[in-house]
Amino acid sequence: MEALSQPYQLGGATAHSGCSVGVALFPDDGEDASTLIRHADMAMYAAKREGRGNFQFFSPAMNAATHEHLLLENRMWGALNTNGFKLHLQAQVSLETGRVIGAEVLLRWHDQELGTVEPSRFIPVAEESGMIVPLGDWVLGQAMALLAEWRREGLDDIRLAVNLSARQFSGASLLSRLDELVAYHGIDPAMMELEITETAAMRDPESTREQLRQLRARGFKLAIDDFGTGYSSLAYLKLFAIDRIKIDRGFVKDIEHNPNDAVIVAATIGLAHSLGLAVVAEGVETHAQWGFLRDKHGDEAQGYLFARPMPVADFREFIRHQEQPVPGA
Ligand code: C2E
Ligand code: CA
Ligand code: CA
Repeated sequence: MEALSQPYQLGGATAHSGCSVGVALFPDDGEDASTLIRHADMAMYAAKREGRGNFQFFSPAMNAATHEHLLLENRMWGALNTNGFKLHLQAQVSLETGRVIGAEVLLRWHDQELGTVEPSRFIPVAEESGMIVPLGDWVLGQAMALLAEWRREGLDDIRLAVNLSARQFSGASLLSRLDELVAYHGIDPAMMELEITETAAMRDPESTREQLRQLRARGFKLAIDDFGTGYSSLAYLKLFAIDRIKIDRGFVKDIEHNPNDAVIVAATIGLAHSLGLAVVAEGVETHAQWGFLRDKHGDEAQGYLFARPMPVADFREFIRHQEQPVPGA
């Protein structure tokens, strides 16, 4: 690994390559070449999941995991072709007025054989297999169709936030696909916010910066998701064309009891505001958390305190009955 990570010359420029290594041992991990190579390959993918520049030895558990992945992947293709996926919406509420200003779009999947499968289980499989690209495309299309429908009904002030996976975000077809969808549904891109995680954004900050610029030029709103869980350079946060950051639930959870988390959240809000960015706090479950965030001048909140993710029709009802600000606001 050390040898392969040495810089080398490529057309006058210095290039770097990383490597991930999977190891399978004879005879324990396989008695013939093809089994050994297959198991080494699985171990390599496990190494990649650990992040760049790792190595892993094969273990039988990887075999089981691969079987589960294949099963899930198979069922997911079926679900995609038969409308088996559904969207849920989770309200985002203004800390100042208590009113719903938008909603995050969250995928839901109930499979006839597997039952309800959590996104935390199927999204990573979809990402690894590449299936997240058609699946994410379906989500974008559905969300835009919904915005168009709402606008026809006179509901034109609720913004929808859609999660973009790293693969979708860095894929070459994202911009043209978004153009197509916007033209087809006739929506205002400003009513759609695209969320990308901090970790995905920082993987290749220079191309992130360019992609965000292109998206911003089209009028989309942009948010950095799970903020605080990765390693952002402040320099980049300033260079990225974003509108909001979403503070990860991990920091909000213990805001009342953990002085460190309280300081981090307050400082993040201050920093974001000084850069002209709004702040959404995720996973707000208690009135005390709400009060703290409001006192620190956070902009919006999302969490079980106001609403759980719910089916689209329920969300429509929910905001219909939201003539009054939410209690506790
Ligand atoms: P996320 O983007 O961080 O989404 C927020 C998650 O926090 C959701 O979980 C939501 O149900 C949960 N949550 C919201 N409020 C609270 C709260 O007050 N307390 C607690 N304990 N949890 C709360 P969910 O729906 O299971 O989604 C998990 C992850 O799956 C999402 O995390 C997102 O990364 C991914 N995901 C969901 N839908 C999509 C999608 O359409 N595309 C992509 N690429 N990823 C998606
Ligand atoms: Ca999100
Ligand atoms: Ca999040």
